[in-house]
Formats: sequence, C-alpha cells, structure tokens
Amino acid sequence: MYRDLNQIDYPRPLFSSSGIASLSYWCRFWLGLYLSVISSLSVPLLHADEYSGLRQQMIEVIEADVRETSRYLGTAALDPLVMKAMGNVKRHEFVPGALQRFAYVNRPLPIGHGQTISQPYIVAVMTNLLQVTPQSKVLEIGTGSGYQAAILAELVDSVYTIEIIEELATQAMQRFKRLDYKNIETKIADGYYGWEKHAPFDAIIVTAAASHIPPPLIKQLKPGGRMVIPVGSRFMTQELLLINKMANEKITIRQILPVAFVPLTGEH
Ligand code: SAH
Repeated sequence: MYRDLNQIDYPRPLFSSSGIASLSYWCRFWLGLYLSVISSLSVPLLHADEYSGLRQQMIEVIEADVRETSRYLGTAALDPLVMKAMGNVKRHEFVPGALQRFAYVNRPLPIGHGQTISQPYIVAVMTNLLQVTPQSKVLEIGTGSGYQAAILAELVDSVYTIEIIEELATQAMQRFKRLDYKNIETKIADGYYGWEKHAPFDAIIVTAAASHIPPPLIKQLKPGGRMVIPVGSRFMTQELLLINKMANEKITIRQILPVAFVPLTGEH
C-alpha cells in the first residue's frame, strides 16, 4: 500500500513524494491506510453533492421568476422556508436517470406514463400559497414523482399523497423510503374523493388540472384551511386557484396564474 503512495502526485504544499519516501515504514503504512480510507469516503460524499451548485442556480432562477410575476403572486419573494426546502430536496432523485442532468433546469420533465414532474417555479409558488406550518397536515392529489410531496415533507408534520397510476405511486413510495422521508403516506386511488380517513386537512394541493373543484376536497379542508388547484381543460388555459375555507365554512376563490398541467383523470 505504501509503495503506491510514491507514485501519486499529491499537491506540493501538502506532501512531496520525496517527503513521503523518507518517512519511516510505520509512518508510511498508517499514512497510506489513512489516505485510502479518506479517499474511499470522500468519493461518494463528493458524488452526493455534485448537484448542489446547480440547485443553487435553480433557486436564483426561481427568485427571478417570482420577481417577474410578482403582479400575479402579490409578492416579490417567497417564504424563505419554502426556498430553503427547494434548496434541500434533490430533484435529480425524482427524475428518470437519463434526465438527471436536466433536473435543475426550471422546466417540467417527463416521468413516464405521459405524466410530468412540475416546473420548480410552480412547485415553489404552489407550496408558498398553502402557507403551511410545522404542525400542518397536508393532502396532495397527484403524487407523480413524489417531488412536491418531498418539498412539503420538509415543511410540515405529515403529508398524505394520492396517485392514480399504480406504477408511479410504487416508484414514489420506494423513493420516499430510500431518501428517508418518514412523514409521507402514499395511496393508490382516484384523488378526486380525497382521503376521508385522515381528514380534515390544513392544506390541500392538487397537481393535475381538474374541470371543477372537487366537492369532497372542499369538505375535507379544515375551516381556516387553504387549497391550491389548477382548474380548466387540457386545451384551454387553466387557472391556478387559491381557495380559502373560512372559519364560518364560507369559501373564497382567488385566481393566481395561468398554468398548464396534465389532466386529473379517473371515473369520477
Ligand atoms: N406532483 C407531481 C407531479 C404531478 S403530475 C410531482 O411532484 O412529480 C400529475 C399526477 O397526477 C400524475 O402522476 C397523474 O397520474 C396524477 N393523477 C391524475 N389524475 C389523478 C387522480 N384522479 N387521482 C390521483 N392522481 C391523479
């Protein structure tokens, strides 16, 4: 092992090869062992973080887009906690392998079955509109890759997410397990009907375009709660709506942005 050390050209200020060669046998042995352990440890660590620069660039692009659309959003900056979650979650873990290098471009990407992972800007804006707290219980309709659920999981107590395509749901569940998200529960079903067992929710987010606001979801929203949902048809402009259920159970609806989502499917 120590022999190899002489052939490696370490940076001069740290070691010169002649310096290593003149060390005693044991010194060289332990140094060699130490360096090989360090290098075997540092390879996966570097690898795990190779996207952090791109993730930071993505954050800056989202911030610029938010400033540009502040007229729609009513704010020029999103909640720092939402942006922190966007900076934490490794989007490349949620896209197919061949597309990983595009994971931090501010665009939707295909995830199979004709579905897409939403554009990061939209994920950040929708999350911000929900105004969640660390105590919140959130329902998501349209798990897809699981990215939006993971962003929410960084911010709230518990996330319940429903996906209608079995294979996507299964893949998302495996991801949540691998990435150690313990506060996300996933179900394969038509999300139009919500998740009665865990209702009421502090916030509901629908990530597929519905033709109308599903009444079961309104019912499962807590008084004081908020729902974000794109409404419209596939070939017409859809509108992102923010729905507030007031303490007296009255509903207010605000149009936020024109958007383009895949449709909410199912037999409902
Ligand atoms: N939130 C996802 C992206 C959603 S794409 C992410 O972060 O990756 C929309 C998803 O909604 C698709 O996976 C689609 O299969 C799912 N979907 C469509 N109709 C649905 C329904 N009725 N119930 C549950 N999921 C539905």
